[in-house]
Amino acid sequence: MFEKVLIANRGEIALRIHRACREMGIKTVAVHSTIDAHAMHVKLADEAVCIGPAPARDSYLNKAAIISAAVLTGADAIHPGYGFLSENADFAEMVEAHGLTWIGPSPKMIRLMGDKVTAKRMAIEAGLPVIPGSDGAVDTLADALAWGEKIGYPVIVKASAGGGGKGMKVAHDAAEMESAFTLAKKEAGSAFANDMVYIEKYLQNPRHIEIQILADTHGHVVHLGERDCSLQRRHQKVLEESPSPALNAEQRDKIGAVVVHAMEKIGYSSLGTVEFLYENGAFYFLEMNTRVQVEHPVTEMVTGIDLVREQIRVATGAELGYAQDDINFSGYAIECRINAENAKTFIPCPGKITDWHVPGGLDVRVDSGMYAGYVVPPSYDSLVAKLIVRGKTRNAVLMRLRRALEEFVIEGIDTTIPLHQDIIANPDFIDGQYNIHWLERFLEKP
Ligand code: ADP
Repeated sequence: MFEKVLIANRGEIALRIHRACREMGIKTVAVHSTIDAHAMHVKLADEAVCIGPAPARDSYLNKAAIISAAVLTGADAIHPGYGFLSENADFAEMVEAHGLTWIGPSPKMIRLMGDKVTAKRMAIEAGLPVIPGSDGAVDTLADALAWGEKIGYPVIVKASAGGGGKGMKVAHDAAEMESAFTLAKKEAGSAFANDMVYIEKYLQNPRHIEIQILADTHGHVVHLGERDCSLQRRHQKVLEESPSPALNAEQRDKIGAVVVHAMEKIGYSSLGTVEFLYENGAFYFLEMNTRVQVEHPVTEMVTGIDLVREQIRVATGAELGYAQDDINFSGYAIECRINAENAKTFIPCPGKITDWHVPGGLDVRVDSGMYAGYVVPPSYDSLVAKLIVRGKTRNAVLMRLRRALEEFVIEGIDTTIPLHQDIIANPDFIDGQYNIHWLERFLEKP
């Protein structure tokens, strides 16, 4: 087992990793930017190292500074969390080259899955169903138009290096292709320094359903069920739940088995998520995330398995020690991402939190690094808390969530709590009748 882990992240996920380490008897090293000197992850860690000024490129993306911090503090391993360097294969290689363990899959696997064109090819080889589209990158407008004709409109032009919903443009007909193709390429070039794009059929009413998997380095793979992440704004998840209201146990077992088989075939090890769009009873591979996800707690709530602990454990080379049949799903869980944003305009609202009171009670979990008096910096994403609630039935979860959202006090900044209150009071949501476009349509209504 590791003695000391460096956590190359900030905010709630840095805390989440710290908590898993603490419970495993592992010491932690926090890294932080100058503006984060008073952040909770810095206060709780055994040691903390300042790695640079506020802009992420100078601190949380500063590979050399993070490696130096790990070497100087004598850490054995680096946990990257999500975002920042978590899917950066070069960084994972650097970590290993310095004799440290990377808590994640091999750099080779990260590189393969990080490029959506190669990931899709790999998915096809491993037997996963994919969305009809171009076989690879599309370089010219003429080719893009040819693919549009072949696949049939509407189509979506997507960045091969994409992430965070960036570099994606829909073309409803051939006339819209030029702008969709040019804009997606331009956005991809500036966001990812890689303007390679590909084309897919644009599904009209899918749900976003993803399968959580866990694999050790000895070839054992299990799945931990699905998360329904269809509630999105600008292709970004807002609220997630497990199980999905759209699947029954048989469908879950079936897609779970397909994913496990695919992971065995490609030799994946570590924690990972295979994302799908789900329409008319069929699954279509979207991408694979080779890291812990923001929404992992809903899976923890229904399986009772500490995913971060398991991720750390398999990184040491330990065997899973349990099989698919040992995993029990119990109850329902929903996670609300609470952002420091205006709930109507979505304008970010960094600033000082003057009062902070989190809800409690049975099956209510809050993952957050905030406290009263803390100043939310403008430099990073606006997530301030994740509220995760479990219940025996979906209805029990909704009642508990309503109560917990009412109890949550965050003063001094705007948050998206009122948005979540509106969503969970809506009859469509209560009935589980929603797809990836539902939230944007709901927000357009006066
Ligand atoms: P990112 O890596 O940027 O998150 P994804 O490929 O995971 O991009 O897609 C994010 C979201 O964009 C999906 O959950 C879905 O809402 C939408 N999307 C992506 N591809 C398609 C498609 N072919 N048809 C319809 N919606 C899509």
